Amino acid sequence: GSDGIGTGDPLVQRLLKGLRAGHRASLAESITLVETSHPKKKLQARQLLTEVLQDAKYTYYLYGTKSLSLRLGLSGPPGAGKSTFIERLGKFYTAKGHKVAVLAVDPSSATTGGSLLGDKTRMPELSRDMNAYIRPSPSRGHLGGVTRSTNEAIVLCEAAGFDIIIVETIGVGQSEFSVVDMVDLFALIIPPGGGDELQGLKRGIMEMSDLIVVNKSDGDLIPAARRMQYEYISALKYIRPKSKHWSIPVKRISSLTGEGIDELWDLMQKYRKIMEDCGKFVSCRRSQRRAWLWTHLKDSLVSTFINSSGLKEKIDQIEQEVMDGVLSPGDAADILLQEHIDVLKQKDRK
Ligand code: GDP
Repeated sequence: GSDGIGTGDPLVQRLLKGLRAGHRASLAESITLVETSHPKKKLQARQLLTEVLQDAKYTYYLYGTKSLSLRLGLSGPPGAGKSTFIERLGKFYTAKGHKVAVLAVDPSSATTGGSLLGDKTRMPELSRDMNAYIRPSPSRGHLGGVTRSTNEAIVLCEAAGFDIIIVETIGVGQSEFSVVDMVDLFALIIPPGGGDELQGLKRGIMEMSDLIVVNKSDGDLIPAARRMQYEYISALKYIRPKSKHWSIPVKRISSLTGEGIDELWDLMQKYRKIMEDCGKFVSCRRSQRRAWLWTHLKDSLVSTFINSSGLKEKIDQIEQEVMDGVLSPGDAADILLQEHIDVLKQKDRK
């Protein structure tokens, strides 16, 4: 194209070849490429994604829904046993011949700079598995930036032949809601005990969940795990399920002993089958893509607006007036938007 990055771009070609061959090194490099904000690399990333999407489209045309991966979202408080669970579930999947990718979305990394999730040392066995790929969360940028690249990373993992994609997040902030919009099945994982946890986790996340997993149901913890299970089952009575075809199961498992993991796998398979049969599996992905388009657009519009020249002082001033209660927030937004449009018009005239 006119931008100088075409299908023939050597980097794009090399990565594409590597992805198609299922090489993890190419996958890692490709994900790094889509995380970049460098203008030339962004164009290469776009080219790569375009090719990858075309491949996926063609495969779908040939093989239908069975060519699609299972995208699994997993959220829970720190210490719930997420990494132990992923390690266990991941090994279970790879033993069955699947290829498992683990991606992390860490809302805290933006502030702490450190990454709690997706740390390879948290999943030592899985990270040594040839059929697994573990990607730590990107530490730069705000939540929008992090989730944006996660979305694209999923597509790249699939291009490299990974058919189970696990997206992990800590259930503390808002991030689990955006993760919900990236996956086919969203599971909440909770430890036994800590009755306040239920209030803490809020109805919101429960409403978003397709499956609730009570972990650590082993040894002395079994009675507490049972109580937790019943608490959740009764709390769910007051929650409207996302789909009339599926009522949210609450399963007790032990990631330590592996107990309940195979039943959980059966449940996930069943969920997928039901969603495929009623057409929701595909239609959800369609509406998720549309939702992401709007998320990105809103993000970009806001940042273009904030960075638009000559508005900085005006924004500060209007913000003050709104905080002081002398200008209504709605009117303030109208005024700022009009200012922005005027700036753009002036630029056009020049
Ligand atoms: P994360 O912070 O959610 O990733 O939690 P971890 O996987 O790091 O687990 C936190 C702690 O709980 C660790 O000490 C684990 O060994 C322990 N743990 C995880 N799963 C189980 C389980 O099924 N049973 C028991 N008894 N302990 C577990």
